[in-house]
Amino acid sequence: MRNKHVVLKEYFGFGGFRSGQEEVIDALLDGRDAVGIMPTGAGKSLCFQIPSLLFEGVSLVVSPLISLMKDQVSALRQSGVAAAFLNSTLTFPQMKTVLRNARAGKYTLLYVAPERLATEDFMEFARDASIPFVAVDEAHCVSQWGQDFRPSYLKIGEFIHSLPLRPVLGAFTATATPQVRDDIVQLLNLRAPHVVTTGFDRKNLYFEVQSPKSKPAALKDFLRSRSEKSGIVYCLTRKTVDEVCEKLRDAGYSATRYHAGLTQEERRENQDRFQADDARIMVATNAFGMGIDKSNVAYVLHYNMPKNMESYYQEAGRAGRDGSPAECVLFYGGQDVLTNQFFIEKERENEELDEETLKKVRESERNRLRKMVAYCHTTDCLRAAILTYFGDESPAACGHCSNCLRDFEQEDITIPAQKILSCVLRMEERYGVSLLIGTLRGSKSERVLKLGLDELSTYGIMKDESERSLRAKIDFLLARGYITITDDEFPVVKTTQAAKGVLFRGEKLMMPVAKEEPKPLVAESKKPSMLMEPSDLELFDKLRALRKEIASAQGVPAFVVFADATLRDMCEKLPQTPDELLQVSGVGYAKREKYGAAFLELLREHAAASASMK
Ligand code: ADP
Ligand code: MG
Repeated sequence: MRNKHVVLKEYFGFGGFRSGQEEVIDALLDGRDAVGIMPTGAGKSLCFQIPSLLFEGVSLVVSPLISLMKDQVSALRQSGVAAAFLNSTLTFPQMKTVLRNARAGKYTLLYVAPERLATEDFMEFARDASIPFVAVDEAHCVSQWGQDFRPSYLKIGEFIHSLPLRPVLGAFTATATPQVRDDIVQLLNLRAPHVVTTGFDRKNLYFEVQSPKSKPAALKDFLRSRSEKSGIVYCLTRKTVDEVCEKLRDAGYSATRYHAGLTQEERRENQDRFQADDARIMVATNAFGMGIDKSNVAYVLHYNMPKNMESYYQEAGRAGRDGSPAECVLFYGGQDVLTNQFFIEKERENEELDEETLKKVRESERNRLRKMVAYCHTTDCLRAAILTYFGDESPAACGHCSNCLRDFEQEDITIPAQKILSCVLRMEERYGVSLLIGTLRGSKSERVLKLGLDELSTYGIMKDESERSLRAKIDFLLARGYITITDDEFPVVKTTQAAKGVLFRGEKLMMPVAKEEPKPLVAESKKPSMLMEPSDLELFDKLRALRKEIASAQGVPAFVVFADATLRDMCEKLPQTPDELLQVSGVGYAKREKYGAAFLELLREHAAASASMK
C-alpha cells in the first residue's frame, strides 16, 4: 500500500522523517490546513511533496522564484515524480503543452509562479481540474513585514476562493516572527491551520566569528584547505564582491560572482555554473540566495557582517542543507557596522512607505543591527546566541562553535577604557569612530589637525596601541553599552550613563580576549566527530566524479543526481548489490534504476581493489 513511509523511501530514498515533517504531512493528509515554520534546510519541500504524491489529482505549489522551480522540478523528475512548472520562462507553446498535460492528469505536482494564477488560461484549467492541495512555499512573501514582500502573493487567497472545491492548504516559511505568521494565516485565508514550528537549531553547522587583521589574508587562509569544497562568500557591496572574486581567481580558485549589478544573463550563467559544481566558490551579495537549493554547500563565509541576524542565519543556513557537516564563518570588521548603517539611512527600497512608517522601519533596522553586532562580540556560545535570538531553547554551550572551542582570558581594560571615554567627552561627542581613534593615537592627519583635535589633552594618549586593538576595545565598549554610535547619516560616538561608572566611580572593566589568535578554523583534533571527513576520501572523490559526469550528461546540477550526504552514506555502507544500494539514504527506486548500475560498478571495483591491497 502506498503510504507516507513507502513514498519517502521509494521516491526520495530516505529512511525516516526529520523533525516536524511527519506532523505537517499528517495534518495535510487529514484534510487540515497546515503551516510549517522550519529553518532553511530543514526539509520543507518534502512536507508538501509527499502529500501531493498521496492525494488524487494535481497539487499546486506556489513558489516565488523561477530558478527554484526549475531545480525542484528537475530534482523531482529525477526521483520519478511527474512534475512541471509554469512561469514566464516558458514560451507560449510550451505553456500550452504544460496546461494540456495538466488537464490530462499527467502531473502529480505543478509549480506555478504567483502571477500565473490569475491568468485566463490558468483559471480555465483550474476550474475543471481536480486540485486536492495547494502548497504555498516561502509564504512570508505575503507579508509586508517579511523580508521579501511580493504583492502577487496577496492574490493567492482570491485564487483559492475562486476554485469550485476548496483544496487543502499548506504554507511554508523559515520566517518565524509572530507578525509574519499572523499575516500568513490571515492573508492566505487558512482555516484553523495546524501550525508546526521546529527548532531552529541546525546541528550539522559549525559557527565561527573572526575579526581578522586582514580579511583578504584570512580568506585565503580559510580557503587553502577547502579548495575542493563548494562554498559561498557573502559580501555587503557589489564592489567587494567584484574585488574578492577577482582576487580569488587570480589566486587560482574557481570562483564566480553574483550581484544585482550584473546582467541577467551573467547572473544566470554564474549561478548555473555554481549549481553544477563548475565553479566551486560563489562570491555574492545578499541578492544571491532565495531559491538556491544547492545541497552540498560545505561552507558559507561572510566576508562582511550582514545587517541582522535574520539575514545572517538565512544565508549561513545555505550551508549543509543535505545534513552534511558544514561551516559558517563570519569575518567581522568595524567598517561593516558603518556600511550597514549607511544602507539603513539610504535604503528606500519600498517607495510606497510613508515617512512615518519609514521611520519606524529604520528604527527597527537599527535595533536589529545592534543585535547583529552583539553576536559578533559575544564570547558566549554562538549557537546559543542565535537560538536565543529566534526564541528557541538552547543549552548554554554547544561545544562546536568557535567560542565554545576557544579559550578566553579576561583582560583588565579599565584604564584604556577610561582614556577612550574621556576622549569621547573631550571631543564633545561630536565625531565618529575614525576620528576618535586618530585622536587617541595622535594621528597627524589633515582632518585631525584641521579640527584642532591635536590640542585636546587626550590627543596621543594611546599612541602605543595598535589601531586594531583600539578598535576592538571601542567595539567592546559599544557592545556593552558604555558608548553608543548615533544612527545619523554621520554617526557620532557618545558616552552613556553607564560610562560614568568607569570614569568616575572606579568601576573595573574586564574584556575577554582570545588567548591565541583565532585560527581560521579549530584545529583538526578539536573538531567534534560530527565534523569528520567522510570515511574514505578517495572513494568519495571517485563517487563525486561519477556524479559530475552523469549530471553533465543530463544537463542537471550535480546535487540533483545525488546529494553529498548520499555519497557519504555510500562510503559508509559500501553497498555491493541493488538491494544494499537501496539502503543508502537518498537512493529511491527511480534513482537506483537510473544510476544504480554505474555506482555499483564503481563501488564493486573499489571493494575489489581494497581487498587486493590487504
Ligand atoms: P527547506 O525548503 O526547508 O529549506 P529543503 O526542502 O530544500 O529544505 O530540504 C533540504 C535538504 O534536506 C534536501 O537536500 C533534502 O533532500 C533533504 N531532506 C529533506 N528531508 C529529509 C529526510 N527526511 N531525510 C534526509 N534528507 C532530507
Ligand atoms: Mg524551501
